[in-house]
Amino acid sequence: MTLKGARERRVRAGGVDLCVVELGDPGQPTVVLVHGYPDSKEVWSEVASRLADRFHVVLYDVRGHGRSSAPLPLRGGFTLEKLTDDFLAVANAVSPGRPVHLVGHDWGSVQGWEFVTVRRTQGRIASFTSMSGPSLDHFGHWIGQRVKRPTPRRVGQLLGQGAKSWYVYLLHTPRLPELAWRGPLGRRWPRLLERLEKVPRGDYPTASLPDDAAHGAWLYRDNVRARLSRPRADAYAHAPVQLVTPEDDAYLSQRLYDELESWAPQLTRRVLPAGHWVPRTRPDRVSAWIEEFVTAVEGGRPEQRPTGRYSDRFGGQLVLVTGAGSGIGRATAFAFAEAGARVVAVDRDTESAVRTAELARLVGAPEAWSETADVSDEQAMEKLAEKVHTELGVVDVLVNNAGIGLSGGFFDTTSDDWRKVLDVNLWGVIHGCRLFGRQMSERGQGGHIVNIASAAAYQPSRALPAYSTSKAAVLMLSACLRAELAGQDIGVTAICPGLVNTNITTTARFTGVDAEEEARRQQRTARLYGRRNYPPEKVADAILRAVARDEAVVPVTPEARGAHLLSRFSPMVLRALARIKPPV
Ligand code: NAD
Repeated sequence: MTLKGARERRVRAGGVDLCVVELGDPGQPTVVLVHGYPDSKEVWSEVASRLADRFHVVLYDVRGHGRSSAPLPLRGGFTLEKLTDDFLAVANAVSPGRPVHLVGHDWGSVQGWEFVTVRRTQGRIASFTSMSGPSLDHFGHWIGQRVKRPTPRRVGQLLGQGAKSWYVYLLHTPRLPELAWRGPLGRRWPRLLERLEKVPRGDYPTASLPDDAAHGAWLYRDNVRARLSRPRADAYAHAPVQLVTPEDDAYLSQRLYDELESWAPQLTRRVLPAGHWVPRTRPDRVSAWIEEFVTAVEGGRPEQRPTGRYSDRFGGQLVLVTGAGSGIGRATAFAFAEAGARVVAVDRDTESAVRTAELARLVGAPEAWSETADVSDEQAMEKLAEKVHTELGVVDVLVNNAGIGLSGGFFDTTSDDWRKVLDVNLWGVIHGCRLFGRQMSERGQGGHIVNIASAAAYQPSRALPAYSTSKAAVLMLSACLRAELAGQDIGVTAICPGLVNTNITTTARFTGVDAEEEARRQQRTARLYGRRNYPPEKVADAILRAVARDEAVVPVTPEARGAHLLSRFSPMVLRALARIKPPV
């Protein structure tokens, strides 16, 4: 292992010799990282190096993997009982007098659930962070409940997880997995991981992969069938648990964890736009969450969790909102902040962006930044995207919200007017999608783009030709991009608000009239929107819900929803309404 300052030792347990590596100060709380299948401890190197400054970090190769020896015979040598013996031997060797913080990924997490739910480890585990690996006992009960009471939804869940478990059936066949791993699959695996899971190359996977994978097949054979058919009834966690669920895990359905609170009463949930191999693809986020959780448990206080409705879903995620200095953008920044997201507030008006970031911190964002940029300025947006990428990483959710209003008949709208509206409302969205969307796509771990269109995108009117055209383009762009990015688990949503009480009424321009008349119309529109009084907070709520549910098009206010229905089922009515002359 190439980790700086790593100290290696051997620990003897139940007839095998385990290779254990330690980093950091042994005086600090101990964090034990357990790897999955078909991995070795090196899967943790990126996470371990980030944690070593604060903690005593311990990694070990599971029996039969990496530089640990394999049990003989292999059959029966990988039961969860034996793996628990190994864990206890390691914990006793590296942290004899103090409970350890356990972290498991994939099969490391499956094992972790066993460790944290059996009696003999009580008092030895201070906390458990689980990633992409359920308890086989909980899984057994989950299947049992769905088989016993098969509603259509539950059958769908069963079939969904059944389809994701194809490899588990294969691993139960005799000899075939061993032949494949020691042959072509073993050779191709690093490239497959890179291509399908976007796992960057590095010190992982190691040369021991074919043997690790061949031995590890016994993890499945020794445990899966036995436990799923006769799950333990008392598999309750005796330590606080942090569950990290990657949204786009190809092997595990998120539904598996629906009833987890009943097994793990002290549960903290985190969701991450990512595939299965989060220790390699999202080491920054994973280590930040481990650090936060361990620090909170060590401090003896329940973690300061954000209370927002979507805190499970967006806590810790990086969210960038344009036009965040006012109205819908500001409300959206606050809603993500309340959900515990890290927020970047962008606006062309510096002062209002700074204010949004300050307030976002007050309402719950663990971190918030402000940036000044005009979304219509391509170079400024390029600079912004580069800065955010280098300093903060890839954004998980992008909200292209900045927009301006323009009202006036077609012949009163000059080319310059058209350019201004299209530059901000359409090009601003294009720049955002292109620059931040590309980063999401290259990271390969999913994400979400929200574009704020308008009900005007599908409701024609003789008063708003330029504005409506810009928003119709945003709606279509969103639909095209949604189709293109679907395969990469990047969702794209178009939000169509309707009349919302914001500053847009005082800044929207009216063409074809003198300044005095323009001011009068602005005031009149402001009064109308004021009377309608639909708050931007409700739009923000719709935005978070749309991202959580990955919705394609969301009309928000009742009138926007009504017009949306008409546009689909009776567009003639909308065309007739469009002819009505607006009051002057
Ligand atoms: P708002 O005027 O209250 O806020 C818009 C924010 O965007 C302001 O802080 C402004 O400084 C910023 N901004 C404007 N141009 C920018 C640019 N070029 N670069 C960076 N920042 C810029 O307006 P709002 O009502 O909150 O509008 C937000 C979005 O919602 C817009 O896209 C708008 O078209 C859309 N929308 C609003 C309504 C409504 O009724 N308010 C209805 C449908 C759609």
